[in-house]
Amino acid sequence: MAVPPFPHGFKTACEAIAVEERAILGLRAWQPLHPLDLAAEHGVPVVPIDELAPHTRLAGTVAHLVHGPGAALLSGFTVCRGTRRLIGVNPSHTPGRQSSSVAHELAHLLLEHAPDQAVAEDGLLTRRAWTPQAEAEANWCAGVLLIPRPAALRFARNPHRREELQASYRVSEEMIDYRVNVTGAGPRRPGPPLTDLGPGRGATASGGRMARDG
Ligand SMILES: [Zn+2]
Repeated sequence: MAVPPFPHGFKTACEAIAVEERAILGLRAWQPLHPLDLAAEHGVPVVPIDELAPHTRLAGTVAHLVHGPGAALLSGFTVCRGTRRLIGVNPSHTPGRQSSSVAHELAHLLLEHAPDQAVAEDGLLTRRAWTPQAEAEANWCAGVLLIPRPAALRFARNPHRREELQASYRVSEEMIDYRVNVTGAGPRRPGPPLTDLGPGRGATASGGRMARDG
């Protein structure tokens, strides 16, 4: 089923959310935002799914989630009770993927999506289907939360510091490439290596290009 396009202004709104949430945490727009800090700010515990048992009476459900078929594919989910939320995250995934999972679940909260999983008053875990639209929105917003445009520019402009930056942002390689690409932060029209330019032309040609793209 094809996902309809995002509502007008959605991507800009996500960038604004990423900046606002950083400001609340005392961070500048380009600084790394750790999803666990954001979760704490919103009062949402993040629990590895294999440690969920003490948080619920649903031991059978937890065992199913952790040990059942497809457990490795499970990245994260939100459990809601009234206004309270708890995020479960798969600890067997890489730190970068866990960051994405937590950011995705927080995006549902920040975008005010209706919860997809809820613990009903009778203690049963119910699963409601998210619309593909809500999932697409949460995916996009999670990427913006982790690497808003100013951060994508840092990655694009400092390829020699990529490993160091990746470690401080705690994101996956794929997420960096994706965000640099979709934000247009990367070089739009990479010029030929300087050695390919004739003497005397290099400085002018490359200088002009860098002034615009730089
Ligand atoms: Zn989701």
